[in-house]
Amino acid sequence: MPELPEVETTRRGLAPHLEGRRIQGVQLRRADLRWPIPEQVAEALPGQRVHTVRRRAKYLLLDTAAGSALLHLGMSGSLRVLPGDAPVRAHDHVDIVLDNGRLLRFNDPRRFGCLLWQPRGELHPLLRGLGPEPLSADFDGDHLYAASRGRKAAVKTLLMDQRIVVGVGNIYAAEALFASGIAPQRAAGRVSRARYEALATEVKAVLERAIRRGGTTLRDFLDADGAPGYFEQELAVYGRGGAPCRRCDRPLRQAWLGQRTTVWCGHCQK
Ligand SMILES: [Zn+2]
Repeated sequence: MPELPEVETTRRGLAPHLEGRRIQGVQLRRADLRWPIPEQVAEALPGQRVHTVRRRAKYLLLDTAAGSALLHLGMSGSLRVLPGDAPVRAHDHVDIVLDNGRLLRFNDPRRFGCLLWQPRGELHPLLRGLGPEPLSADFDGDHLYAASRGRKAAVKTLLMDQRIVVGVGNIYAAEALFASGIAPQRAAGRVSRARYEALATEVKAVLERAIRRGGTTLRDFLDADGAPGYFEQELAVYGRGGAPCRRCDRPLRQAWLGQRTTVWCGHCQK
């Protein structure tokens, strides 16, 4: 499933091909993805110029003067810029045709993705109530500390709560907790300010590292076939239950926490 770094890599890959271009038309090959595609997408977008390609949490927004197309890749979605005559393949659901003979194509085999419309000056309901971006200055140890006081929920659950901070999925939460030495199941309200400082720093570091690695796949967003290669990552704990801890060599533990499997080192994380 695309996580924040993949979505940010997608944004960076698409922006140079879309920003400044005028949209000539929208071709919908089906009426719905995860949700019905609102008719404003096909009605309002043609003729509009794409000002910016933005990301908020794991949503991509194509901003125009009329409003914004709001996209989510879901579990299996991908976006690419293709020549206008590129053959249509299975699961190619939407084309946004550009004024330079190219098009932006949305492919999504499992259809958990979405294409929605945000009128100018409004905030789509899906974007309301979200916490700060993890790579922004608004997200830091003080923010986590303040948000966690009196909370009995596990610190990992807090970290994955989109109202607290957006875009920290299971992989990155597990990795950041390992890097900062905090046990994932520790009650959020019982983690000190200093440890939250370390955690916030590690969240940023693990996401930035993943985005940097994604940089090598940017070419895949242009004229490529198949699904973009989400980057291989060197993960310390995620997916490594039972394997030796890279710090102390003891076997990593694995358990269910908040309906997610979580892996940690019982020795290195307290
Ligand atoms: Zn260890």
